[in-house]
Amino acid sequence: MTTKFIFVTGGVLSSLGKGLAAASIAALLKARGLTVTIQKLDPYINVDPGTMNPFQHGEVYVTDDGAETDLDLGHYERYLDIHLSQNNNYTSGRIYNSVITKERRGDYLGGTVQVIPHVTDEIKNAILSLAHEDLDVALVEIGGTVGDIEGLPFLEAIRQLRADLGKENVLYIHLTLVPYIKAAGEVKTKPTQHSVKELRSLGIQPDIILCRSEIDLDEDIKRKIALFCNVDKDAVFTAIDVNHIYELPLTLYNEGVDQKIAILLRLAAKNPDLQRWQDLVHSLHHPQTQVSIAIVGKYVDFREAYKSLHEALTHGGVANDAGINFVYINAEDITADNAQDKLAQVHGVLVPGGFGIRGVDGKIAAITYARVNKIPAFGICLGMQCMVIEYARNVLGLPKANSEEFDLTTPDPVIYLMNEWFDFRANCVQRRDAQSQKGGTMRLGAYPCVIQPDTKAFAAYQVHEIMERHRHRYEFNMDYRDRLEEAGLVLSGLSPDKSLAEIVEAKDHPWFVGCQFHPEFTSKPMAPHPLFQDFIHAAIAFKSSR
Ligand code: GLN
Repeated sequence: MTTKFIFVTGGVLSSLGKGLAAASIAALLKARGLTVTIQKLDPYINVDPGTMNPFQHGEVYVTDDGAETDLDLGHYERYLDIHLSQNNNYTSGRIYNSVITKERRGDYLGGTVQVIPHVTDEIKNAILSLAHEDLDVALVEIGGTVGDIEGLPFLEAIRQLRADLGKENVLYIHLTLVPYIKAAGEVKTKPTQHSVKELRSLGIQPDIILCRSEIDLDEDIKRKIALFCNVDKDAVFTAIDVNHIYELPLTLYNEGVDQKIAILLRLAAKNPDLQRWQDLVHSLHHPQTQVSIAIVGKYVDFREAYKSLHEALTHGGVANDAGINFVYINAEDITADNAQDKLAQVHGVLVPGGFGIRGVDGKIAAITYARVNKIPAFGICLGMQCMVIEYARNVLGLPKANSEEFDLTTPDPVIYLMNEWFDFRANCVQRRDAQSQKGGTMRLGAYPCVIQPDTKAFAAYQVHEIMERHRHRYEFNMDYRDRLEEAGLVLSGLSPDKSLAEIVEAKDHPWFVGCQFHPEFTSKPMAPHPLFQDFIHAAIAFKSSR
């Protein structure tokens, strides 16, 4: 069986949840017993999102192979429970970079290099690289909105692919908005009509229209959309607003989206087994208890920046039959004096990753408060580094301890840039796509970590060696290892050669754990990450002890 392709485009406006819709459709096809993968094509010019500010673009998601990717890949991995790679995310910048490199090398043999066919061929190659014998379906989500100038080469490429691969192997799904106008008491189909018209003017006739709507669309409205947009009567579906993102696969299943796809693509697919999704949604709606978790970071006003973290906490809650009350606190608003006011009501404190000095004092104040008051505390990447600094300052008694990221002249650089960094970087660069050299300055992607016995880390993982994903420059300074351990900070996870500290934890505390990696990237709704599971468990215990 050859791989069939489903292209998902978006119309009217952005933020309609195209990534979640694509991930949900992929999950439904997987539940039907098909092998599925999914790719995101982003029309912006950045070679990858690694250089983009989380305030603008949201979280940078990291895959095992160290690719810095769009946050939709996080949804894909969570919904499909698969490992993706740099091949699952291409940007215009990366495509052009590759075309220009070939041009400089003379690969085009003196020809004029043009958007069509050279750029479009490059895009088609990126898409077709997904196909292989054992893969039934590849979903490809086109970022942005139909009508954007920068998306045109991608749309042209997917238009050509239907002719290249045959009608029975390619399907186009268009997601639009059908707004409900309260004053008139009716929904409006005009934006959808316009958006499909735009798409058709580019040569793409959608096969399926998904209508994001706050109310269920009745048959008359669907028929009207089908008529104006030239699709089958039974190919218009409501993607109704859901309370929880994990309801979406079930909602789309109830609409019959996956069944229509199976018919149109002639997929030999069994009825989907959705029990796991039903159980998940049930436990999300009926938690036994509720815990409040403070997230002390600098991007708290822009939730997209903490997407995976938010999900991983939710998964940790599901594992413990607990709902999470998210208390986002701007680290710049916390001081040693007001930490009590801000944190007295929470049952756990999480300090996430980040870059730069802004808010670091507040993060450290929050950690001190959690350590002293025995509130479960979880530090991730920069959060772990802040835990080490806090411990060195306030327990070990090195008041000027710091990270070289914040103070290059500190007498006690407990977090530093390793001397061996250059060899290490060279190693990193080899692991990276040669096209994005700047990645070589960071430790990126999955690295092994050996867990020490009799630690909270071991209690969580229950295995001796794990792989976890990294995205950082600075490391724990091993010169301070002995002194910190004597003061009660255990290094419970180490690189196999013992040169890098991957997990730290406080001995005389119910749950004070920091990790240098990003566990939030690998947590799944059906397989919560052990550290998030145990963090929430500790938060529940803390709540009931009060
Ligand atoms: N800024 C820190 C470093 O580069 C931590 C990075 C992070 O939290 N992702 O090491």
